[in-house]
Amino acid sequence: MGKCATVPSVIVERLQVIRDCVTTAERPVVRRRDNRLVGPLFFGPGQADLICGDCTFLLVRGAPRADSIKDAVLVCPNCEACNERPGISVHAARVGDEEDAAPAAGNGA
Ligand SMILES: [Zn+2]
Repeated sequence: MGKCATVPSVIVERLQVIRDCVTTAERPVVRRRDNRLVGPLFFGPGQADLICGDCTFLLVRGAPRADSIKDAVLVCPNCEACNERPGISVHAARVGDEEDAAPAAGNGA
């Protein structure tokens, strides 16, 4: 009854499932080796819960930010889907555009 009203807000971020689970050296892959374990892959002190984009399994509890996994690929222990943070592919495309534009500026015949 006298419970404090300030409940810490938790952000639930649904990750984006990668169709073709291709991983490169630049993209660290996080998967659970011991399938006997249960629960999230990571625990942290933050307020963002990252869930599998396919089965909504809780992959990371308490991430500092929703995008704190950066470009890592999280393999869901429940359904084995490969997850990445939403929007990362869009960002990669924009970087490519900037690389195209840069040499053009110094292209003085
Ligand atoms: Zn899953």
